[in-house]
Amino acid sequence: MADKRDYYEVLGVAKNASQEDIKKAYRKLAIENHPDRNPGDKAAEERFKEATEAYEVLSDETKRKNYDNYGFAGVDGSQGFGGAAYRDFSDLFSGGFGSIFEDLFGGGFGGGSRQRAQANPNVGQSIRVNIEVDLQDIVADFKKEMTYSHQVACEACHGTGSAKGSSSNKTCPTCGGMGQIRQSSGFFSMSRTCPTCGGRGFVISDPCPNCRGTGTVRKSQTLKIKIPAGIESGSDIIIPQMGNAVANCPTPGDLYVRVNVRPHKYFVRSGEDLYVQIPISMTQAALGLDINVKNLQNETIKVSIPAGVQNGKIIRVKGQGLPRYRNQDSKGDMYIKVQIETPKRLGLKARQIMRELSEAMGENENPTPVPFDNN
Ligand SMILES: [Zn+2]
Ligand SMILES: [Zn+2]
Repeated sequence: MADKRDYYEVLGVAKNASQEDIKKAYRKLAIENHPDRNPGDKAAEERFKEATEAYEVLSDETKRKNYDNYGFAGVDGSQGFGGAAYRDFSDLFSGGFGSIFEDLFGGGFGGGSRQRAQANPNVGQSIRVNIEVDLQDIVADFKKEMTYSHQVACEACHGTGSAKGSSSNKTCPTCGGMGQIRQSSGFFSMSRTCPTCGGRGFVISDPCPNCRGTGTVRKSQTLKIKIPAGIESGSDIIIPQMGNAVANCPTPGDLYVRVNVRPHKYFVRSGEDLYVQIPISMTQAALGLDINVKNLQNETIKVSIPAGVQNGKIIRVKGQGLPRYRNQDSKGDMYIKVQIETPKRLGLKARQIMRELSEAMGENENPTPVPFDNN
């Protein structure tokens, strides 16, 4: 933490930089240093993480203000940055998930567009699938089987789309092989993907009958995905090259598996801590008691509630939370909020005892007001 660089310095922007400048700066760094582009390069990965962390803070007005006022302490930069591969990019860009990844990977993101990669014509199209897991699943690393379908290179034509090999292809007459056509509207001149050849620059004169000239066929795929313990809901797990293949493109895109964690029936999660509320009666509260609580692993743990406990009291049970993300030896805590319930109906005998109790406790005086407490 001590040698952490200033977020503005990391992104190379001024303290008063606009959101647009911050986004631009991050985008550039993310593209340069993305781990998929720099396999095995630890330094690039570090730069990527550093930039992502800086961006996450500076792109959020509230976090940025806290950072400006209090430095790292104001944003708690030590948490939540598990690593590049699991970063969730979807909210980082107002242009949607596609904007940065179009630059990074070429083809559009999962929309089924046949657009050919411009920035990197050697990589196919990345796609995303969603899976759901239960909170109790993520108490340890586990594997989840999932089936999805993606485009794979057609075996009949080896992904060329051409029945007789690519030598029989003709240059596209519409774009002259550029794959793009220019269009003018008012002051602007914009290039867009050629509609005739779909950006490939050539037309297939003798299409492969198996894939009808597209070079790819749809295939159902079953994978076992390793889900790390303690994963945050909404995180992506990236499986390289399991996305869509694109015609004439040697490498398929990546598969982004978005992991959504279903809400638990009574535990509420905050990071690796778990929160639960336990109702007890007023007599139990007065006398104190030991209760048995099931943790997420369904093990019974004993918790002592002290005599005279007040409503809303939170009891911390150490180490009974979720494993810390990527650090399973360390666990969060469980917090039990005591909710004292007043009996709504009393039997004759109970009412009699209550009256006697009230008298014994000298409760016949008018209550004295105290300051309002939002409990
Ligand atoms: Zn084919
Ligand atoms: Zn064309």
